[in-house]
Amino acid sequence: MSQTSRSPTSAEVVIIGAGPCGLFQVFELGLLGIPSQVIDSLARPGGQCAELYPDKPIYDIPALPVCGAQELVDRLLKQIEPFHPQFHLGQEVTEFTRRDDGRFRVVTSAGTEFDAGAVVIAAGVGSFQPRRISLESADSFEGKTIHYRIRASSALNGQHLVIFGGGDSALDWTLELAAKAASVTLVHRRPEFRAAPASVAKMRELVAGGRMRCFEALPHSLIIEEGELRGVNIKAPDGVVHALPAQQLLVFFGLHPKLGPIAQWGLELEKKALRVDTEKFQTSLPGVFAVGDINTYPGKKKLILSGFHEAALAAFAIQHHLYPQKKQFLQYTTTSPIMHQRLGVPD
Ligand SMILES: Cc1cc2nc3c(=O)[nH]c(=O)nc-3n(C[C@H](O)[C@H](O)[C@H](O)COP(=O)(O)OP(=O)(O)OC[C@H]3O[C@@H](n4cnc5c(N)ncnc54)[C@H](O)[C@@H]3O)c2cc1C
Repeated sequence: MSQTSRSPTSAEVVIIGAGPCGLFQVFELGLLGIPSQVIDSLARPGGQCAELYPDKPIYDIPALPVCGAQELVDRLLKQIEPFHPQFHLGQEVTEFTRRDDGRFRVVTSAGTEFDAGAVVIAAGVGSFQPRRISLESADSFEGKTIHYRIRASSALNGQHLVIFGGGDSALDWTLELAAKAASVTLVHRRPEFRAAPASVAKMRELVAGGRMRCFEALPHSLIIEEGELRGVNIKAPDGVVHALPAQQLLVFFGLHPKLGPIAQWGLELEKKALRVDTEKFQTSLPGVFAVGDINTYPGKKKLILSGFHEAALAAFAIQHHLYPQKKQFLQYTTTSPIMHQRLGVPD
């Protein structure tokens, strides 16, 4: 699903954000025959629905009396299949500039570069960033011996590890690495875990079998010798500080959204949201549109339903921006042969 390239990819439309509104934008553009490239800093599509509340039911999606948040994402992905969007996941859009010819240069953290005719910012509440451990000097070890995401788990084999967190990521990695690392110690601030009960039960089995350790404690300070990380001190609920020798710390305190680079792109902002009109959902820069939670206008409500409406109208505006000579007329998916062809529906 993801690809990286060094030479610019020419695109009609680049969509920044693969949350529900970015995904529905693919659909609305697809109906008009316009293909999309979709970028998201997360490793999977779905935005807040997939990342923050995948198992929760949503009750206000039209015609679906109840729909799980992840189920909604899966349904949207199914709905856009006929349009074969190109996904570029695990990449944050870091650079954005308007070129002299009116097109846009969009560059991601992975070095993927696009030359786009129009851009839709569907970045929600921003790009999700890992919550960092607040210990002195922790930032200087980030990506070396303190990790917030794991890219190559094989590098951790045979190492002494301390893992912080109580959610699914912390438990999944604990279980996976318990068999491969020299030692694994899990540290969580509370006795209860947010992770799946089956994972917690498995972890407790490993602890009972002496294959790993688990502490209820808070991080206290890093143990650093001659500039190298040697472990971490943790503070137990009784206030006693324990030293845990370790070569690598893995921290899974969850993710929080950050508007990030979008704030630097020279687009008009109002309270950390992009100001748009309600005809085209265009930002202060012609050719750049914004849908979903990232935009603001009088009466804006941050609902999925609102983002879907915005995506429909933005698609027509994008078509006009890309092809100003083209005559626009409204077609129904029920009866339009060209839309059936695009959707792969036999007439
Ligand atoms: C607990 C909870 C329950 C909710 N329940 C409901 C409900 O019942 N009904 C309802 O309508 N709404 C509900 N919402 C709100 C709903 O989830 C949001 O309105 C919706 O997710 C907005 O979709 P979006 O596509 O605009 O943005 P998001 O879902 O936030 O997705 C934006 C995506 O953009 C990506 N991104 C941001 N910046 C960059 C960048 N620079 N580069 C690359 N990618 C980037 C992010 O990683 C993210 O994946 C709920 C929200 C929460 C937290």
